[in-house]
Amino acid sequence: MTGAWYLEIARLIIVVAFCYVLGSLVGHPVVVITGGLLVLSLWHIQKAVNVLRFSRDPESARNSHGIGVWDEILASMSAGNRKHGQELKELEETLGRYRQAIRALPEGAIILGANDEIELFNHTAARILGLKEPDDFDRPITHLVREPRFIRFMEEKKFDDGLEIVHEKIPISVRIVPYGDLGKKLLLLRDMTRMLKLERMRRDFVANVSHEMKSPLTVIKGYVESLLDTAEKQGLQTVKQLRQVDLQTDRMCHIVEDLLQLSNLEVDEAVDKFVVVDTPSLIHSVCVEANEISAGGHKIVTDIDNQLMLKGDYNELYSAFSNIVLNAVTYTPDGGTIEGTWRLNEAGSPVFSVKDTGVGIGPEHIPRLTERFYRVDQARSRELGGTGLGLAIVKHVMIRHKAELRIKSKLNHGSVFSCIFPASSARSRDQKASNA
Ligand code: ADP
Repeated sequence: MTGAWYLEIARLIIVVAFCYVLGSLVGHPVVVITGGLLVLSLWHIQKAVNVLRFSRDPESARNSHGIGVWDEILASMSAGNRKHGQELKELEETLGRYRQAIRALPEGAIILGANDEIELFNHTAARILGLKEPDDFDRPITHLVREPRFIRFMEEKKFDDGLEIVHEKIPISVRIVPYGDLGKKLLLLRDMTRMLKLERMRRDFVANVSHEMKSPLTVIKGYVESLLDTAEKQGLQTVKQLRQVDLQTDRMCHIVEDLLQLSNLEVDEAVDKFVVVDTPSLIHSVCVEANEISAGGHKIVTDIDNQLMLKGDYNELYSAFSNIVLNAVTYTPDGGTIEGTWRLNEAGSPVFSVKDTGVGIGPEHIPRLTERFYRVDQARSRELGGTGLGLAIVKHVMIRHKAELRIKSKLNHGSVFSCIFPASSARSRDQKASNA
């Protein structure tokens, strides 16, 4: 018990004792004691009202001082209030700093609540998505960005990969980072307009340079061939040098052709020019070409479903398949086996797969093989006439066919390159006739 309680008990005893003495003098002690207790109760009621007023409005009761338990209660409430106010101030300051951090982010940033409602956004996000403060607070982000792929992305909640969408003609890259245990998310946005413009400039530059180089190279090649022909016929000493020039001109011609092909593959969406391709006969032609290049050095076998056709682009598919098969010939020493398979897999997807018993590829190189000019062994690839662009072409053809290139390999044990097409692109030979 605190001093205030002892004081309160003493107060009660004094009142009762005083009233008893007074009551005895006037001959009515009970009446006077009752009156005294009533006055004490009224005093307590007035103090209780004061405390109630303070709890509603701390300012109004600030100047009510006195002694006793009620004042102690008032004092402790006022201290609690001060502490609470201090905590609130600190919380507001932290929130302010957190808002400042969000606003300072160079990327567009939006804080989403558990139901994907907008809680906070910075100027960049407002500019990219046209958000307005405070009208768009509490609105679900999917009500503002109506792109179906974005809505599916938010519903499926598979945020590991980002997403690229076009919103009101602005190309945007979206990333979502869930945080905390209240279902909140940080949505990061990047306006890709500048990056795509630079990418287009790079593409145009490569395409233009390749195009410009094509004609002079054709002329040089023509002259070199005729000079070589003359030198060979006349038995001149320059034959050796001219053969080298001829070889290098050939290499440059191949690089230019591959670069032009890559530029064309990058330019437009090809889906609308897709037809039903007689894939078994395409693979057959590729194998004939491979046999010619191998010149009997390899055993080339096939396992082909003759009924299985594919909706796609003949030239692009030919280019991709021949790059894979010719690589198998190039990187498999004589005496090795190359096995081509064209079948549906268990999921109903058409798969073209090429297995060789060649030199194989170390695991550290596999993720980079489809990069332009990436070669495991530069010197060897050059010596074998490679441009380093073949698998980049394959990758682009796969992207255009919504297919996937899978590479499995073990150093010195051979490789398997598989092109897995979507099940929806499979056609039967009957459908080929109607080109459906
Ligand atoms: P390149 O013109 O050099 O063959 P590609 O893009 O076709 O270029 O291939 C890239 C690299 O991948 C090659 O340089 C080679 O090192 C490796 N590679 C491709 N196919 C095979 C294969 N079947 N076996 C071993 N290595 C391969």
